[in-house]
Amino acid sequence: MIKIQMKTPLVEMDGDEMTRILWKMIKDELILPFVDLKTEYYDLGLLNRNATKDRVTVESAEATKRLGVAVKCATITPNKQRMEEYPELTEMWKSPNGTIRSIVGGTIFRTPVVIDSIKPVVKNWEKPITIARHGYGDVYRAVDMYTTEPGVATLTFKGESGEEKTLEVQKVKGPAVWQAAHNLESSIRGFAKSCFQYAIDTKQDLWFSTKDTIAKVYDGEFKKVFEEEFVNYKAKFDELGITYFYTLIDDAVARVIRSKGGYIWACKNYDGDVMSDMVSTAFGSLAMMTSVLVSPEGVYEFEAAHGTVTKHYYKHLKGEETSTNSVATIFAWVGALRKRGELDNLPELVEYANKLEQATFDTLNDGIMTKDLAGMVEEGYTATAVSSEGFIKAIRERLEKKIG
Ligand code: NAP
Ligand code: MG
Repeated sequence: MIKIQMKTPLVEMDGDEMTRILWKMIKDELILPFVDLKTEYYDLGLLNRNATKDRVTVESAEATKRLGVAVKCATITPNKQRMEEYPELTEMWKSPNGTIRSIVGGTIFRTPVVIDSIKPVVKNWEKPITIARHGYGDVYRAVDMYTTEPGVATLTFKGESGEEKTLEVQKVKGPAVWQAAHNLESSIRGFAKSCFQYAIDTKQDLWFSTKDTIAKVYDGEFKKVFEEEFVNYKAKFDELGITYFYTLIDDAVARVIRSKGGYIWACKNYDGDVMSDMVSTAFGSLAMMTSVLVSPEGVYEFEAAHGTVTKHYYKHLKGEETSTNSVATIFAWVGALRKRGELDNLPELVEYANKLEQATFDTLNDGIMTKDLAGMVEEGYTATAVSSEGFIKAIRERLEKKIG
């Protein structure tokens, strides 16, 4: 068989534990037999991050900016317990995702993978809801303090030109708590651009919500920047028949619950943190969630939203059978190969990625799934729980039929 050719390499970021095992199985069974895979390989496994003093993470992020598309395996973020588990670690290395996000920038889009046999808790949700979470500032970069006596707090900005602006926050008669938060116009603009671009890429409506009736200047700035940026995307939105819609966060929550799904909901940092957990839980499982970081310059990093599934890895090491869900990791590869195909104008590569995605859905719709899902199917559907390998083999059979 002639394999599908690639032009530009993908940035491949390998990872840890059970997801590293799945990573190899996915490549060997589902990709390498069909695609003449070109990647620039970075081993983000914990021991190699340690051996390279975490240079490898920085280099993989820089390669992502240079080549435009990356696919990342889940990785361990070391904590105290991991330092004991891996005594060779010379430092408690920072979260690779955090490092990559700070170099690449942009917005994280998370979308549940929906199948007929597993219904979301919200019965009227027919299509996935994608949460676009702003990744900078607000309460996550705020300062706060506690005071004990009567007094007054002010907020002062000192410009480099010498200009000063002061506001009175509040006069208090007793103990009080205080907080000062900020955001950057450039970051808000990048957030807006990523959201409009992602709506165009996925041909979905974009909703955006804040509380600008209360935070008139702060949230008002978000609303204004989105309106300003939308001017540059409106013609493309009209051409695709998609819409941009702004509403208050409380109105958005009510509309989301009553909706059929099938749109992107852009949220400020805190709202996105909370709402993405709500939406993913209501749809079922973290193992059925895709995640992509999109920078305002149009750089893409695809990953799974879950971790390295440590408990399953230790079973695997003992030679026991595992039933670990590889859907999110397969879909990270699908997303990356499809995007590479689109950017390099390789329709065969796009078609292959679509077939791999469809073969995965066909397998699930045939009731072949890993244990985490098999226990969740609705009455009237049958499900057979298979092993990690069994699931990937079942996808392989269906993929081969599609490719012919
Ligand atoms: P986790 O790996 O997501 O696993 C938590 C539990 O969720 C698992 O024990 C398993 O439950 C279930 N689960 C998650 N993914 C699954 C899958 N694909 N198939 C089947 N079940 C799945 O989270 P964690 O145990 O909190 O973290 C483990 C390591 O991952 C940590 O070192 C953390 O730093 C890292 N992490 C990495 C990322 C990332 O790179 N994006 C994200 C989060 C965490 P059962 O055991 O009940 O089957
Ligand atoms: Mg959270």
